[in-house]
Amino acid sequence: MAQPTRPTPPSHTPAWDPHPEPLPLDSAPLPEYGSGSLADLLPTLAAGMGVPGMSAAIPELTPTDRNCVFLIDGLGWEQLKAHPDAAPFMTSLLASSRGGTGRPLTAGYPATTATSLASIGTGLPPGAHGLPGYTVRNPDTGELMNQLRWQPWTPPGAWQPYPTVFELAHRAGVHAAQVSSPAFANTPLTKVALSGGTFHGRLTGEERMDFAAEQLAAGDRSLVYTYYSEVDGSGHRYGVDSDTWRGQLMYVDRLVQRLAEQLPPRTALYVTADHGMLDVPFDEQHRIDFDEDWELKAGVALLGGEGRARHVYAVPGAANDVLTCWREVLGEQFWVASRDEAIAAGWFGPAIDERVYDRIGDVVAAARDDVLLIASQREPNESQMVGNHGSMTPAEQLVPLLEVRS
Ligand SMILES: [Zn+2]
Repeated sequence: MAQPTRPTPPSHTPAWDPHPEPLPLDSAPLPEYGSGSLADLLPTLAAGMGVPGMSAAIPELTPTDRNCVFLIDGLGWEQLKAHPDAAPFMTSLLASSRGGTGRPLTAGYPATTATSLASIGTGLPPGAHGLPGYTVRNPDTGELMNQLRWQPWTPPGAWQPYPTVFELAHRAGVHAAQVSSPAFANTPLTKVALSGGTFHGRLTGEERMDFAAEQLAAGDRSLVYTYYSEVDGSGHRYGVDSDTWRGQLMYVDRLVQRLAEQLPPRTALYVTADHGMLDVPFDEQHRIDFDEDWELKAGVALLGGEGRARHVYAVPGAANDVLTCWREVLGEQFWVASRDEAIAAGWFGPAIDERVYDRIGDVVAAARDDVLLIASQREPNESQMVGNHGSMTPAEQLVPLLEVRS
């Protein structure tokens, strides 16, 4: 297919540079799979409790009998560090995190909730658990599947066949529990990512903290997960530079302190997140619209992922042309890789399961700059979000790992 030329300089390519150099793929900061990613946390804690088959990938964490993970959706390391006044308690924990190194964890790619929850719960990178995006193509149906909402419904056990760490811990006699919103009690995402032991729905943050502390005390060895969503929600709606977001940060800081003050003996509480976030300006330079760009649309059968982490599924035979075109149009602001290049570079982990291979786009595009590839018609709601995440930049990839021990 011949490459069409643009009739006028497009808004998102600087007119003064008609031949931008694409970003080299090895300049993408990869997640620290195997030593410091979200997928390494639960296996490390479970290994410390003697659960068979688990290994301590994060050696700085000292084993203990009771472990709690409090996941704050959307609270990146950089955003936490930028707001010490709004989060005095968590800020006081920074110095002691990860054995005093103050280092964060990396979320994994893409830095999005469904992917990260599966990485945490299964202890596996995305290439193995098989939730490699916000939306990905189901190779069996050829349709896009939303991994967060699990739409259209797909058999969960076939999509993600591995047992979770909670399940393995439960089988080994550890008291395992999840304390989260009642809305998530029976969702397929909970089933594939967080099941094992007992799920307890509690409506408010305070109830979750109090009940998580009770659950920790309920076993001699216990593994408890709890969750709060609205830091992410307010960031999407109002941005991470908004009063609403800072208000949420202040609230969740008090939740962390409330839980920390109730820990039973021999407990470690770990506060972490599924991803960070960054605000993207509302103009055509920062929000490139796929639905309005005939060049980007050429040869594309399905657009998956999200604004900062796209999976592009080409019509049969067009994958190379789509890759060439996307690299030319977006390659200065996005890392644009073929499926095989992204896999070989380790974006999704050290290896990829065969069943996951075709879920990855023929072309994978990850934003480096504060830009989005929106789709104003296909994704009207997502295209209006102020705060966004998904890619490999530190703002979205780095998440805290704060530790409190009783
Ligand atoms: Zn989000």
